[in-house]
Amino acid sequence: MIDDARKFEMMDFKAIESQISWVEKECKKRDIYFVCYPKTIASDNYKAYFTKQYEDLTDKRDKCFFPWIYMEVASNGGVTPCHTFYDVPLGNVNEQSVSEIWNGRVMRNFRQKLRGEGGLFPICGSCARYYADPNKR
Ligand code: SF4
Repeated sequence: MIDDARKFEMMDFKAIESQISWVEKECKKRDIYFVCYPKTIASDNYKAYFTKQYEDLTDKRDKCFFPWIYMEVASNGGVTPCHTFYDVPLGNVNEQSVSEIWNGRVMRNFRQKLRGEGGLFPICGSCARYYADPNKR
């Protein structure tokens, strides 16, 4: 999550592109599943991401589907919608079933709010999951 873009302005985006491309190539050679987000491995894309120029991202999307397929469970059993919204407690698997939490009032409200925002919250552009594509491996 990018909070202050100034912290990242000095990054060598060409070097990042080169290093991630190398990792991808090595994974392919070894038949290891490789994925990284944002998906497009390009210095301009990384620069747009780390400096919060989300409109310039090659991988720009218009909605997040994660709240319909995913929740996060912490080691204490606490459940949240995603890593960004760890301050939205949905319940605890030590006290309720996953199904109760998944279909619970707070999770349904969260989905409704996301829909109401047009599919994304303002912070979503800086979330790596946002760039995941459910239709591609
Ligand atoms: S894009 Fe937004 S709603 Fe989706 S996982 Fe990231 S922060 Fe959560």
